[in-house]
Amino acid sequence: MSTVFEKIVNREIPAYIVYEDESVIAFLDISQVTTGHTLVVPITPYKNIYEMPEDLLAHVMKVTQKVSIACKKAFNADGIYVLSNNDEAAGQTVFHFHFHVMPRFINDDVSLKFVNHMNDMTKDEYKKRALMIKEALS
Ligand code: 5GP
Repeated sequence: MSTVFEKIVNREIPAYIVYEDESVIAFLDISQVTTGHTLVVPITPYKNIYEMPEDLLAHVMKVTQKVSIACKKAFNADGIYVLSNNDEAAGQTVFHFHFHVMPRFINDDVSLKFVNHMNDMTKDEYKKRALMIKEALS
């Protein structure tokens, strides 16, 4: 079954498209969590970041940069969130890879709370975690 983003790509449902080229499309997120909240989406429906071909991912990232700069300028944003939810546990609801470009404003109502666990950590635990990632990378 096609995702809602494929339907937008195929013009089966409407969207406020702000950018399009041969491999990427960007349109306003219907939820407008903040003013100008935009999604940058590869036209080919890869499910998540793990499946994305490197060259396409690089191009999506370039477009994400352009859209971020444009959103900052257009809405006089104080900052920009760029984020991608991958898998349900990370909050992904549309299983067609995308970046959120979300303009941020001082005192906006966005909450993405990062809890700092630095004080619970030992050097050994940092070392162990870094090693686990390095091993998985090789
Ligand atoms: P995710 O939760 O997968 O990271 O993000 C999916 C996003 O797609 C959500 O922020 C949601 O608001 C947006 N979305 C879902 N359905 C539609 C739609 O029909 N049109 C548009 N423009 N955005 C949608």
